[in-house]
Amino acid sequence: MSTQPNVCIVGSINMDLTVTTDKMPMQGETVLGQDFFTNPGGKGANQAVAAARMGANVKFIGAVGDDPFGKTLLTNFTNENIRTEGIEIVRDASTGTATIILSENDNRIIVASGANQSVTPDHVRKHRNLIITSDLVLLQLEVPLETIVATMEIAKANNVPVILNPAPYQPLPEEILKAAAYLTPNEIELASMKASPLFTSIKDKLIVTRGDKGVSFAEHGIEREISGHSVQVIDTTGAGDTFNGALAAELAGGTELADAVTAANAAAAISVSKTGAQAGMPVKEDIQGFLH
Ligand code: ADP
Repeated sequence: MSTQPNVCIVGSINMDLTVTTDKMPMQGETVLGQDFFTNPGGKGANQAVAAARMGANVKFIGAVGDDPFGKTLLTNFTNENIRTEGIEIVRDASTGTATIILSENDNRIIVASGANQSVTPDHVRKHRNLIITSDLVLLQLEVPLETIVATMEIAKANNVPVILNPAPYQPLPEEILKAAAYLTPNEIELASMKASPLFTSIKDKLIVTRGDKGVSFAEHGIEREISGHSVQVIDTTGAGDTFNGALAAELAGGTELADAVTAANAAAAISVSKTGAQAGMPVKEDIQGFLH
């Protein structure tokens, strides 16, 4: 009787390029670093992997460049059972990258959005079928804002609920705040959102991730908190992405809000006890084991 929940994600796909060094280069300086590694990333892609591992049928709308990183990232999606027919290969931009310089007490990151900027409203409209055949849509803010608006219009017209993860934070127009079923800021993003004159009207939609403190949210107008799990923290990269992907998979499958938040809070806790954003993301059976 159980059918697989359908989640559509419109979002970013990046290759993270990390170099480690003892010494940050100064202006005009070249230093010898240590290791170099590449990891699939981008908030949209990370959340897609988290949702797919939690058992959702994930349909992704996005873009990569016509280059080796793009090919590798598409293969990664296929290996994770994420549907790629909504991903365009664009010729006039490179695949999105995040270049990360990592030293023991400092890190510096440059994101080149590249093909992620080519995820236009027209691109989304072309693939609208992936949205309207889904139980739920999950969005972040690493593709253009007009694309978020266009996606929400399609979702709303077809009664498909939308979770918006407002990260990286930027002020949001009223139409977006109104159309979202849930907003999932972390505490820093929440502080920025409080400046909005519309803040009181969106309070009941908030599911706030609070790092090791867990999650707070409103249920039938009553504020609830779910405590964080005490785990050995190895790497918190992608904790919020794991939370959002898992939450989307659970809600799309019809799980009640409090139970969905509980599962997502556990998924994110498991992910921080392992290295890598996507590498540390659990599958559904891991959650069941962790919570019992
Ligand atoms: P982001 O990664 O977006 O900054 P948070 O830091 O709020 O978001 O983390 C998201 C979720 O990941 C938390 O709500 C919690 O479930 C889990 N989490 C993050 N850090 C820890 C930690 N140190 N211990 C246990 N769980 C954590």
